Amino acid sequence: MSRHHGHDHGHIETPQLVDIDTGIYAYIQPDGTWWINNCGILAGADDAVLVDTCSTERRTRLFLENVERVTHGPVRAVVNTHHHGDHTHGNWLTRPAAVIGHRRCRESIIASGLPHFAGVFEPVDWGDIELEPPMVTFDDRIDVHCGDIHGELHYIGAPAHTTNDIVVWIPERRVLFTGDLVFNGGTPFMVMGSVEGSLAALDRLAEFDAEVIVPGHGPVCDLSVLDRLRRYDEFVLDLARRAIDAGVSALDAARDTDLGEFAELTDSERIVGNLHRAMFEMNGAEHGAPIDLVTAITEMVAYNGGKPLSCSA
Ligand SMILES: [Zn+2]
Repeated sequence: MSRHHGHDHGHIETPQLVDIDTGIYAYIQPDGTWWINNCGILAGADDAVLVDTCSTERRTRLFLENVERVTHGPVRAVVNTHHHGDHTHGNWLTRPAAVIGHRRCRESIIASGLPHFAGVFEPVDWGDIELEPPMVTFDDRIDVHCGDIHGELHYIGAPAHTTNDIVVWIPERRVLFTGDLVFNGGTPFMVMGSVEGSLAALDRLAEFDAEVIVPGHGPVCDLSVLDRLRRYDEFVLDLARRAIDAGVSALDAARDTDLGEFAELTDSERIVGNLHRAMFEMNGAEHGAPIDLVTAITEMVAYNGGKPLSCSA
């Protein structure tokens, strides 16, 4: 166990527990920026399954208080949509629940270890975190059953937001939990996945015929959110192509660009990291191949005027 001290931000903006369909809830944490994610609850008559946990100890404890309000038995399983700490740091607080995720989700949690982002983000009071990677892993597809709720867990098929993105699809209710394949109101972040792969993932998401989408960050939405995400990915690819042709760096290309309709998305500095990924791929890197994260992230801070990235987790 280790304790990471940081500045105490005190106030947590009140999360919203959204009743989507009988026994299906979205836990929406405003404002959906860095490290402030969404979770899901599948509540059967006797037990419950969660979709993701939160970034800090106190955020996960608050989530679990909300879980108790709407469930009628123990949390038996937690599904991780991908390995990022905002979705997985709280896994250990659900013990003895079984954590389920993609094989590479487990590998990436173990490889990433505890948070080490001094100077990158505004200080965060993580509380206690014990790494709890998925104990049940799969490559392509597995199902969970909770009362009469049947959840299909699908790997999205290729690197996109990360190398291990899965969705939770509840076909009988047409509800889709997308994890961070969808940011609603925030800038997409593809540094650890693939920009072209993200475009392919959006096509795959559209095939689920969902009525309700619970994104990884931001308010509950529907399939119409995908259009803007597609335009953003194409914007990044186009900018990357022009930067390579002109021999311009990712940071300079980002600085010289008007983000247009995407300027209103939160965490806009992600453009720099996304460009790094797109240019890396155009120069021959395989989708999802490890990138120089230190450079990508340092340059996002530089784009942000040298200030740590805003974080109220
Ligand atoms: Zn993520």
